[in-house]
Amino acid sequence: MKKIAVIGAGTMGNGIAHVFAQKGFQVNLIDTQSTALEKAIQTIQKNLDRQIAKGIIDEASKTSTLSNITCITQLEEGVKEADLVVEAATENSEIKKSIFSALDKYAPANCILASNTSSISITQLGAVTNRPEKVIGMHFMNPVPVMKLVEIINGQATNETTTEAIVTLTKQIDKIPCVVKDFPGFIANRILMPMINEAIIALAEGVSDAATIDQIMKLGMAHPMGPLQLADYIGLDVCKNIMVIMQEGFQNDKYAPSPLLVKLVEEGKLGVKTGQGFYTY
Ligand code: NAD
Repeated sequence: MKKIAVIGAGTMGNGIAHVFAQKGFQVNLIDTQSTALEKAIQTIQKNLDRQIAKGIIDEASKTSTLSNITCITQLEEGVKEADLVVEAATENSEIKKSIFSALDKYAPANCILASNTSSISITQLGAVTNRPEKVIGMHFMNPVPVMKLVEIINGQATNETTTEAIVTLTKQIDKIPCVVKDFPGFIANRILMPMINEAIIALAEGVSDAATIDQIMKLGMAHPMGPLQLADYIGLDVCKNIMVIMQEGFQNDKYAPSPLLVKLVEEGKLGVKTGQGFYTY
């Protein structure tokens, strides 16, 4: 694989483009919003500077990484020569289905179509294409240039050739692949989100305050960040949506989002991105 198209230039898309470009792949970064593309390049530059300051890369690597990225607003143009597409657009199943249907039309027949979705069924995304055996989940963690894990999700129809290609590629970009089946929340969020939700329930019950709950999990479980602070970083709307997808997907109310989480989302208190969540930013 040489040519990678990344759809969506937001938080995750810019990180995914950064990592592939740094490893010498030609990356087309595609977003419908040109402002998102401009912001993504600024973020990548800032993160490359941070890597230089830490002695991880040199100036020449920064220059070559940036020269490997082309920003494009037209999906059709951006994917027509791709060996792999990694979709990292907004977490909305209708948006993703329409992107996958367009990708099936415009990407070369042998191109693998991957999604960075946190919770949407890979099988459903594969079903809107004529190549479900080439559709797979490639779930990077935030921040992408730093985090080693890529959760690889096999849809019902994903074939072994596709999985092997993506496992090999993941190792090539210095990440560690972990392969899982297509169940709601996969593994990472299926375990993380109920823990965050339980911390919110404990807070709402008044068992302790936010700072103490986080301190207990940091000191007692050696977590680098407490669950409530982590929820603020992920976005409370994202946490709520993933809980709802698991509640509906498993038909089990043990995954029901805490009423306090629902209320904060309704109030527009979404965490770091709005300046207010369990903490003030
Ligand atoms: P984001 O909102 O920061 O960025 C999404 C981008 O997609 C926006 O720039 C938007 O303009 C663009 N977009 C929307 N529709 C598009 C279309 N039709 N064509 C091209 N671009 C389009 O979102 P994000 O946080 O980067 O999340 C992206 C994906 O990654 C989601 O599926 C999310 O669940 C997943 N994810 C997010 C995180 C995280 O911590 N943020 C972690 C793992 C996975």
